[in-house]
Amino acid sequence: MVRVVFGLLLGVLAFLPVSAESGVAHAADASMPRHAPNCVAFTGKDVSIEAMAMEGSGAAKWQCGSRRWRSDVAAVVLKYDATSWESAKPPRYFYSRISRFGSIAIAAVDAGGEIRTARYTEGDGEPFASGPVFQLKLPEITDKTESVLVRIERPHSVPMLSEARLTVSAKHADWTQMDVMLLAIVIGMLILPFMFDVSFFIVLRERFVLLHAALVVTMMVYVLLAGGLISVFVKLPMEVIAIGAPLSWAIGSALAAFFLADFLEPGIQSRAMKHAVIGTAAFTMLVPGICSFQLAWMHPYDDQLYFYAFLPSIIVYTLAIIAAVRKGSRSARFIAAAWAPIMLAAIERLMRGLGLYAAPSTMDQALYLATGIEVILMSLAVADRFLAIKRERDEAVAEAELLEQLSERDPLTGLLNRRAVASRFERLHAAGFHTFALVDLDRFKDINDRFGHRVGDEVLETVGEVLAGDEERTMIGVRMGGEEFVVLLRGRTALQRAEAIRQTIPRRISGELPGLNRPVTASMGVIVVPKMGGNVKGFADLYTRADAMMYQAKESGRNRMCYEKLTVFDSAPPKSRPVRRAA
Ligand code: GH3
Ligand code: MG
Ligand code: MG
Repeated sequence: MVRVVFGLLLGVLAFLPVSAESGVAHAADASMPRHAPNCVAFTGKDVSIEAMAMEGSGAAKWQCGSRRWRSDVAAVVLKYDATSWESAKPPRYFYSRISRFGSIAIAAVDAGGEIRTARYTEGDGEPFASGPVFQLKLPEITDKTESVLVRIERPHSVPMLSEARLTVSAKHADWTQMDVMLLAIVIGMLILPFMFDVSFFIVLRERFVLLHAALVVTMMVYVLLAGGLISVFVKLPMEVIAIGAPLSWAIGSALAAFFLADFLEPGIQSRAMKHAVIGTAAFTMLVPGICSFQLAWMHPYDDQLYFYAFLPSIIVYTLAIIAAVRKGSRSARFIAAAWAPIMLAAIERLMRGLGLYAAPSTMDQALYLATGIEVILMSLAVADRFLAIKRERDEAVAEAELLEQLSERDPLTGLLNRRAVASRFERLHAAGFHTFALVDLDRFKDINDRFGHRVGDEVLETVGEVLAGDEERTMIGVRMGGEEFVVLLRGRTALQRAEAIRQTIPRRISGELPGLNRPVTASMGVIVVPKMGGNVKGFADLYTRADAMMYQAKESGRNRMCYEKLTVFDSAPPKSRPVRRAA
């Protein structure tokens, strides 16, 4: 798995330099020019595009050259001078980064003062897959057109202003196919961890695995929406992308923290720190989450608030990880490695989002790539923990099984003990063990008295070997206590085999212990019950009946078998067949 993951990572890294350059390569492409605005004006709500078109009479001053972008104004007017495209084809489309807005009016202003305007609402924006962008058609541009004005009322983000361009061809923005492909690769990077999570959860049932799976899904949604890749597959309304992208990031950030709180080894995080992390996560889900909707009344605060509201999470999560790493948490080290790139990329994005510095929108790729790396490293952490937990559980199970075995086996002979068989007798009977043979060694006390307890034990061990189960599992030997045993048998010749076992005992003992001057024989009392019911309810009943048969065997001279076949009628009292003997 590690190899697959790193293979993917290397694949992605190999694409990086190409995609970083490609934006530049296209920007220099003369046949597909993209024009940035020459001047910008931040105006009040009541300043119309027509008023702005009449130069000099506008209420606000045009700012040309360097500027600091702001989205917290009622309206922004961008001015594109025709001198930019004098020698080339005139532009036909306006495009910019997806964000919510009140309305957009575009005016083509001719030399003679003629103005052609087009007015759009959010629903008219056409998203397309070249980054998170949408386009609008310009009104007709003629030879006489001197400038194009774009008035964006209630813009909800800075990049929507700073990345607004005019272009000649439809669906052509800053991002190249390579950039879009990189996004697809990031999505590919996320699918594998998700599948791992599903399989881990089936085995572990740990909450942190679910949280991680939810995080991966959220990040997939984020990359699909924020990178604009979604437009390759479906035509979503612009608002859905505009809301979904920041919202999924807010939810993802919170999920990452919930994951952190649940994933760290028990005892690593102090209660106060855990509460701080969860509290910050809830705040992150709530405040930037609500800002994501970019409702009209939130403007002009939502854009800045969205970004600033991530600061607590960046600080608290970082402190939490540092604290956990210092306490020696192995999981925290994985998370630190996973989160370092995403924190850096998020800070870059945050500064760009706040308009603190300008960089091409292809810089977003860094964040998407960091997202992919984060998810993969976190998956490694989950896998690492998975193995640790599984190892612990396997050890515990093995130990429990060993204990069980020890408590169910007689230490001297290795045979099962009474408890082990009595508790399973119903199932064994149902599995065909209908023959219940009680074995007692004859005059065993005498062996102990004459040869010592040690030799007596060796005799019992030898009996244990004779009664040890066979490979086909047609017999089960049990040491009831002392020199008394039970053999359960199944199969058509069970009774004959019981007798054969009884006769084997003295032969085997004299073979193993040649010093004994007399054969150690055994007596046997056997009960055969093909069906349980009536008076015969279970192990204890059969034992009592077998003991009665044993008594008869002992009474009639030892070294023999007495058996009884029971026919059980559910309603009528049980009938016993006459006792028979075998010597
Ligand atoms: P019977 O033919 O009537 O069964 O005569 P017996 O001497 O076998 O009589 P009984 O069954 O009452 O004797 C059981 C003896 O088994 C008593 C005890 O000394 C011996 N014994 C019980 N458990 C052990 C053990 O673990 N090791 C040894 N060496 N002897 C044991
Ligand atoms: Mg005995
Ligand atoms: Mg006995």
